[in-house]
Amino acid sequence: MTSKKFSDKLKDKTITLTFNDVILLPGWTRIEPNEADLTTYIGHIRLNLPFISSPMDTVTESDMAISLAREGGIGIIHRNCSIDYQVEMVKKVKRAESFVITDVKTISKDIKIKDAIKIMKTYGINGLPVITEDRKLIGILTGRDVRFANPEMKVEDIMTKDIIYAEESIKEDEAKKILHKYRIEKLPVVNKNKELTGLITYKDLMLKENFPNSSRDEDGKLLCGAAISPTDIERAKKLDEWVDLLVVDVSHFYNKNLFDATKKLLKTISTPLVVGSIGTYESAIDCLTKLDSIVGLRCGIGSGSICSTAVVTRAGSPTLYATAVAADAVKEVGANVSVIADGGVKNPGDIALALAVGASAVMMGNIFAGTKESPGRLISIQGRYYKTYWGMGSEAARQKRYSLDRYSQPSKNIAEGVEGYVPFKGKVKDIVDELIGGLKASMGYVGAATIKEMWEKAKLAGVSFVGAKEIMPHDIFLPGGPDQKTE
Ligand code: 5GP
Repeated sequence: MTSKKFSDKLKDKTITLTFNDVILLPGWTRIEPNEADLTTYIGHIRLNLPFISSPMDTVTESDMAISLAREGGIGIIHRNCSIDYQVEMVKKVKRAESFVITDVKTISKDIKIKDAIKIMKTYGINGLPVITEDRKLIGILTGRDVRFANPEMKVEDIMTKDIIYAEESIKEDEAKKILHKYRIEKLPVVNKNKELTGLITYKDLMLKENFPNSSRDEDGKLLCGAAISPTDIERAKKLDEWVDLLVVDVSHFYNKNLFDATKKLLKTISTPLVVGSIGTYESAIDCLTKLDSIVGLRCGIGSGSICSTAVVTRAGSPTLYATAVAADAVKEVGANVSVIADGGVKNPGDIALALAVGASAVMMGNIFAGTKESPGRLISIQGRYYKTYWGMGSEAARQKRYSLDRYSQPSKNIAEGVEGYVPFKGKVKDIVDELIGGLKASMGYVGAATIKEMWEKAKLAGVSFVGAKEIMPHDIFLPGGPDQKTE
């Protein structure tokens, strides 16, 4: 029996402030907002923007991960699908653009044109190197070759046999010159034995120039993350080969079985690992001291816009609080581990608040769910467009069953998330531009030129319940606002 009075629990309670409870105090500034630098790190992985898309099946599949990495952030591919499907989605991102693609789709000379067309359509590519069984390059088949070809013919009948190719040592500038000189779009790369080892494409070279802020790996491929459960070693191992970041995706990570499984997992994989979700200082300290080599903490439980955990269980830790205490733990231990604020972010100001309390990056579901690149369905309701968005603990997500283990045992029968719609907002790029503009403006008010300076300089003030109304637009009729009658 506890020696403390029960009523002390109410007296000693921690106040877990959330985004709406606080505001950034304007500070002395030497910078203009457009000078703010948003570069950040998750462990050693450099991102040009502190934006991460949530591993949810209505948020992040290949299209989202490609678009977000092109803008400078990173997408975490969800795990509510078969292992093969998730690995394929990651490969699609890694293949999306790079100077030399190494995972090249190839065909043999004996298949029919109709089958080659099928491969082109499935993978969204329009040039296939033709190789022998021992990978010797013997031809190339392009979209132009097959356009009017008889589908029953064999590849060898129409492929280009007189191939322009490059050696493995080729540099980007030389590749551009060759592509221009021969007016070709694909340049196969071979080793000394004339075996195919890669492919350079005009499209990739151009895309790289179009997205100067993109986040890329050492080979110039777009960065991509993927979600896992620590108990699903098979999935983690398969993804380990392809992905840049693995993110544990369980709703309450501070659990003995999950810690034991993660220790084993860390011995098996070489990809940097982010663990979570966590919500307290103690859990962060234990992650940092018991799990060697993790690179990030995913912080916040119950703040997600589609989350009903705190309603159902009355347990949770609002994102801003969870982020601040985890950042304290990182400072205390002196670890090179990044804090990721996850859940409840509605606008750039919330991102600024998360950075102010020690986050290196922010994970967002709702903000990205309404974009063209999210996998959610686009629907029209009374002339307006929306996309479906649901929690990973909602009935809709649970029906697929692959990520049921995100939640504890009893939750397999209780939904911890809701299903709904978010307004369609256009392309990821447009949303990211808005977030950047707002975030840089916040940093301008704080006087912070970098994210590290946000940690050091940003000061917060509390907002009272009454004051909260004043900092919103007020005493004005807003067209389309709640006062306006709609027929
Ligand atoms: P949002 O950006 O929509 O506010 O929050 C997204 C975050 O909510 C995700 O990154 C994830 O951590 C969390 N989340 C996703 N689905 C669920 C759910 O069904 N229940 C709970 N408790 N959290 C969820």
